[in-house]
Amino acid sequence: MGLPSCGSSPGPAPTSTPPSKRLLVVTHTAGFRHSSIPIAESTIAAIGTNAGLYVTEFCRTETDVRSRLTPAGLASIDAVFFANTTGNLGIPDVPAFLAWVADGHGFLGAHSAADTYHDAPAYLEMLGGEFETHGAIVEAELRVDDPADPSVAHLSPRFRITDELYRFTGASRASLHVLLSMDRVPADGVGEAGAPADLLMAWRKAHGRGRVFYTALGHREETWQDRRFQEHLLGGIRWATGS
Ligand SMILES: [Zn+2]
Repeated sequence: MGLPSCGSSPGPAPTSTPPSKRLLVVTHTAGFRHSSIPIAESTIAAIGTNAGLYVTEFCRTETDVRSRLTPAGLASIDAVFFANTTGNLGIPDVPAFLAWVADGHGFLGAHSAADTYHDAPAYLEMLGGEFETHGAIVEAELRVDDPADPSVAHLSPRFRITDELYRFTGASRASLHVLLSMDRVPADGVGEAGAPADLLMAWRKAHGRGRVFYTALGHREETWQDRRFQEHLLGGIRWATGS
């Protein structure tokens, strides 16, 4: 007996399943504004469309922040992505926002998400570290700390990238699941180039029942256009949204 025939009655035409997740990308800045923000916005949206994973919404101004980063404004959102935000963004109730994350939602941050809310220790504790300083933009070698994590598996065991390389206070292996790090000081003028070090560059962590993903990369337009970085973000977004 042969295989069942497709015969003359074709099944229903394949339909693309609409993305099931909603991601809110926040790019408001109350301090330094990176020129890479427009390409960051379009890149994050394209990653979601191409993967069929999420619909992207944007929160670009302080007015947007006041209305969207509230429990009511986040009602339909699965994860929030702070893409090169800086300073005090004007969230009406920061503890309520952090409670929303802790309630089982996702939080992603890139680059200057760690140069945001220096006046809100609870935000920095949720994020896992606070931007301290950076030097010149240089090429550096990054190490993959967890080759099994889909956000960095494609970069294993080491890769080279040119970007502005943040240093942090409060970022500790004791409290973070580290994904990327540098084991030598890069030649960017901060510290002795080539000296042994343990500089954390990307991590994930829990915040209550919420999932937090942060990458220090993302200063340059070229970084956002780098397919390796886009795969890094896709893995992080999948994890943060539980996809
Ligand atoms: Zn930067």
